Amino acid sequence: MSPETHRWFRKSLIQRRKELADNSQHLVRALQTSKLQHAIGSGRDAADFAVANHDEHLSGKRITYQTRIIREIDDALKRIDEGTFGCCEDCGDSILHDRLLAVPFAKFCTDCQEIQERVRPLHRDHPGMSI
Ligand SMILES: [Zn+2]
Repeated sequence: MSPETHRWFRKSLIQRRKELADNSQHLVRALQTSKLQHAIGSGRDAADFAVANHDEHLSGKRITYQTRIIREIDDALKRIDEGTFGCCEDCGDSILHDRLLAVPFAKFCTDCQEIQERVRPLHRDHPGMSI
């Protein structure tokens, strides 16, 4: 992989990391506000609380997911520094460029990723967010 390509991936990873971090912060703040309203009671009835609880549950899940992706991005940035970016951590083969464009923090080639997911399905809760 050329230094330009490395630079491009680094830039897009940093950009993506920032977006995720901003979004997580926003969700955390919204969650805190919502929990505070629960604590002080805000004149909402049981149905409101049910909706709020559901929203909080989803926000919590999203924050967990985003935090994990941020960690994956940090790992990918480390791999760029170490010069191992784009190599499958399992078999050592190059990860296809198209796959890296779609998932720049991918650690495994498509084949190894499939094996990983068969052993340990990571994204059962997020069918639309498979990596
Ligand atoms: Zn592999």
